[in-house]
Amino acid sequence: MDQRVPAVSMRNITKTFNSGAVVANKDVSINIYRGEILALLGENGSGKTTLMNMLSGIYFPDEGQIFVDGKEVVIRSPKDALDLGIGMIHQHFKLVDVLTATENIILGLKEKGKLDLKAAAKKIKDICDQYGFDLDPMQKVYNMSVSQKQTVEIIKVLYRNADILILDEPTAVLTPQETQSLFNVLRNMKADGKAVIIITHKLNEVREISDFVDVLRHGEFIGSLTTSESTPQEWTDMMVGRKVTLNIERPDPLGLPPRLKVKDLTVRSEEGLIKLDHVSFDVSGGEVLGIAGISGSGQKELLEAIAGLQVTEEGSVIYVEDDGTEEELLNQDPNKIRRMGITLSFVPEDRLGMGLVGNMDLADNMMLRTFRKGKSPFTDRKNPHKRAELIVKELEVVTPSIETSVRRLSGGNVQKVLVGREIAEAPKVLMTAYAVRGLDINSSYTIYDLINQQKQKGVAVIYVGEDLDVLIELSDRILVLCEGELSGILDARKTDKNEVGLYMTSLHGEGGEAS
Ligand code: ADP
Repeated sequence: MDQRVPAVSMRNITKTFNSGAVVANKDVSINIYRGEILALLGENGSGKTTLMNMLSGIYFPDEGQIFVDGKEVVIRSPKDALDLGIGMIHQHFKLVDVLTATENIILGLKEKGKLDLKAAAKKIKDICDQYGFDLDPMQKVYNMSVSQKQTVEIIKVLYRNADILILDEPTAVLTPQETQSLFNVLRNMKADGKAVIIITHKLNEVREISDFVDVLRHGEFIGSLTTSESTPQEWTDMMVGRKVTLNIERPDPLGLPPRLKVKDLTVRSEEGLIKLDHVSFDVSGGEVLGIAGISGSGQKELLEAIAGLQVTEEGSVIYVEDDGTEEELLNQDPNKIRRMGITLSFVPEDRLGMGLVGNMDLADNMMLRTFRKGKSPFTDRKNPHKRAELIVKELEVVTPSIETSVRRLSGGNVQKVLVGREIAEAPKVLMTAYAVRGLDINSSYTIYDLINQQKQKGVAVIYVGEDLDVLIELSDRILVLCEGELSGILDARKTDKNEVGLYMTSLHGEGGEAS
């Protein structure tokens, strides 16, 4: 038994929603100590955020007790939490764009007398120096990168003297280099005796930054492990509740000729901002081309331009038929492009806003995509039914039946339908973006398997993903976008996260083919 008094002890915490219909946390007990970093792990929906929201005063537990430094406390609001030194940095930032870093940080603070901006800026500077933040206190938020905004959010809670910090998936929005800077800050906090809790899905980061791992599954506490004495495989097995294979197979590319030839593709936003700047590359059948880049670097525009869903300013996208015939895709009807075998599944934030009709059942949603395929304008109901059944079976979609309307499925299940439907089209080019966003580990690996099967069938796969580790394992080549420019095309078997990260921020060379 650890004899130390924990900074925070949550004991037998239970929290339900919807009058008890959803049990988000069930009898959970965890301890966090000062000078340590705890990684809180669990699949989506396992109750991590709910648990942390009770610590930071957003939710109030139905049952259980919370102790800070051994004393029982009642936390009814974020202010209560901060008064106890507990600060949470959420995934979505709540900053005021037109204000400076300093103004945002002191916003809402009632200091005695007149607000002394100068003194505040000085205190912020001291915090930056102490923990190794790089921030200009006078910079306006609208000029900031995502990582700088996150810095402001972290300093905001440090400014209020928080010494128990909770970070909810802080690296989801960061490049590998920015992640390293954040980790340096976290190490400094740890050395300074702060208690840090980090929620993350990236197991390599857990290994790198945390001292302990606590695992939740279906709202219950499963166990606590010392990071250095356990493995990602053990953590995953605990998260999932059974053994899972964490290997992504990467068959060799088939060495087929180019299927798509993209040349000088240029796209501007409606406001006239450049979104893609003379991007050129080929993609062949039987290979997976991964696309990396900080979010918003032109990934969406690239895929949509190929699919005919994006107005382009310049360039060409040539589709090469099996017999070598070439056809220009730009300015073609998107339906025609689909019929040629070029499919796109884009998993957006709003999954129902994109390509699935919520009120229609699964089979009808299949039909939406397939009815244009046959020669007859009349639709064949049997075929989509079969497809829907196949997708439900292969991807383990949880649905009462294929007659259930898509709106009633959970987000992850909708997503499987979305990706499954594109694959069921037997495409020549399969483009998929954020295919595994929000999916549990098993479903994610099912999707990687499906992608590899497509590759082995000779399909040209373009894969936009968020997890660089996965992107490097799954792809044959990685095309890196940086602010709409192609900053490099890397051999996925030879590159690493660090190199890809450098290309993402364009620190590496000027455009063109690397490696
Ligand atoms: P995690 O952070 O591990 O992904 P959450 O804590 O967000 O998990 O969710 C745990 C469970 O509680 C999920 O089933 C989720 O749908 C549910 N849940 C979370 N917040 C609410 C809420 N405000 N209302 C209803 N259900 C909720």
